[in-house]
Amino acid sequence: MDKVINKEEETVNESGLNFVEQEIAADLAAGKNGGRLNTRFPPEPNGYLHIGHAKAFIMDFGAAEKFGGTCNLRFDDTNPQKEDMEYVNAIKEDIHWLGYDWGDRLYYASDYFPKLYELAVRLIKEGKAYVDEQTSEEIARQKGTPTQPGTPSPYRDRPVEENLDLFERMNKGEFDEGSMVLRAKIDMASDNMHFRDPIMYRIIKTPHWRTGDTWKVYPMYDFAHGQSDYFEGVTHSICTLEFVPHRPLYEHFVKELADESYCPRQIEFNRLNLTYTVMSKRKLLQLVKEGLVNGWDDPRMPTLKGLRRRGYTPSSIKDFVNRIGYTRYEALNHIELLEHSVREDLNKTATRVSVIQNPVKLVLENYPEGQTETMVMDNNPENPAEGTHEMPFSRELWIERDDFMENPPKKFFRLSPDKEVRLKGAYIIKCTGVVKDEDGNITEIRATYDPDTRSGLPGADRKVKGTLHWVSVPTAVDAEIRDYDSLFSVENPGAFDGDFRELINPDSLKVRDNAKIEPWLAERVKAGDNYQFQRLGYYVVDPDTTADHIVFNKTVGLKDTWAKIAQKN
Ligand code: ATP
Ligand code: MG
Repeated sequence: MDKVINKEEETVNESGLNFVEQEIAADLAAGKNGGRLNTRFPPEPNGYLHIGHAKAFIMDFGAAEKFGGTCNLRFDDTNPQKEDMEYVNAIKEDIHWLGYDWGDRLYYASDYFPKLYELAVRLIKEGKAYVDEQTSEEIARQKGTPTQPGTPSPYRDRPVEENLDLFERMNKGEFDEGSMVLRAKIDMASDNMHFRDPIMYRIIKTPHWRTGDTWKVYPMYDFAHGQSDYFEGVTHSICTLEFVPHRPLYEHFVKELADESYCPRQIEFNRLNLTYTVMSKRKLLQLVKEGLVNGWDDPRMPTLKGLRRRGYTPSSIKDFVNRIGYTRYEALNHIELLEHSVREDLNKTATRVSVIQNPVKLVLENYPEGQTETMVMDNNPENPAEGTHEMPFSRELWIERDDFMENPPKKFFRLSPDKEVRLKGAYIIKCTGVVKDEDGNITEIRATYDPDTRSGLPGADRKVKGTLHWVSVPTAVDAEIRDYDSLFSVENPGAFDGDFRELINPDSLKVRDNAKIEPWLAERVKAGDNYQFQRLGYYVVDPDTTADHIVFNKTVGLKDTWAKIAQKN
């Protein structure tokens, strides 16, 4: 997976269906499962959803929507050691946030524990399963290799009665964790390693958050997933490519239950991986637990909660997933394409406001003290229907420190001594000098304004090269801006063999606590609202905002870096 690609193979047909949807359409056309479509999204409640999960459930819910089918939400809660109610609620919220709903089809794999147990007992009675008392290391050693057959367990031919008795007692808690497992008796010489007597059940004594201590044995993924699909009436079980080698086993166990009238099938697509990002739930959990980020919703996290707090919109995430597409090849997707998607979306919808992130004072020497004017600003030039808002103008203004240079290079079109610029939506000004403190730092920039150049009035058409944004000093409100860089400093941290924490970018968060925002914005800030700060980028109001402390997160800058990368690919 060293290639960095997006939409690497065009797997979309003339009707706009991706390859999974084409399979579904073919099954429906053939009248399989009585012409029914029922998908499912099966998160394990052991962490928060990330953008990769979004790719999965956009497929599951999206296909159901497209073909008039249904999609179940099933919590795959078969491991009580790692699972928690907190995750269940967060997962539901995130799916809703992206605009999908499971209606009354909310299920838990734990609902099927009785039926799965019953099936296991039946398989034991039919001589298709046995209790193995070896350690997991011994079992692993006997698995063989892809080219060498495995070695049968010494317990493989235990009498049925003994197996039944032991399995029952495993579930009563008579044996220690790790001392016994129930294995399917399939084929120790199979070409497919998953067929070499896979483990069906293991002993876990941690109480389950839903079923308490009813069960001491818990089914493995391979013994639970296909059957859960079957019990629920799922027709298409769509998952990621790592399950390809599990598919024959999925079919093997499902066959114990299904017939020609109804049988679920598994289809696999490629995972979403992002540059400069880790996507493994285990690693994300570690980042949170070790305080390397500020929680699951840290704006640097690829979780849906993190992306949301960063200012990503549901439509930008869906647009990105649609652009990268669904294929059968693993790929690493460029983060710049995700940024491109949100930039395109916010360009259409975000209100334009004036904010100075790194302020320096500008004094207009010939502007009367105490005078103010009201300038009119477009809310969104992309959409005139959004109207305008007013911004006060006065003798003292905040401008960006970076917009001034005392000794500028040739192509610097912003402010410098004796040069002119336009203040956006206001006047043309000319720099007359600077004031410095004892250390030589600029504390004030002095200028004069040309009263005949007010924007929108006759004479305003005089052209100058640069336009600066500004905020009037007396009415400016203070704010904090959190500026982010990627959390990892290498392109593919997921592929690193060592400790991934060594790859963390030490400068991924920069806090600017002295920003100046226009009063119109200060009055209306509401957590989650997106804005375009003129000339700076897209920002979102952070939920840390209180009545007297306004906080913004930077979503992305204005400059699109995707086009260049797309050209190279
Ligand atoms: P775990 O290692 O805990 O199983 P997981 O990321 O697979 O982690 P699940 O809760 O099992 O987590 O995932 C639910 C569904 O989301 C699965 O069907 C899985 O295939 C899919 N999924 C997980 N990660 C990605 C990804 N990066 N891209 C696309 N789909 C994904
Ligand atoms: Mg999984």
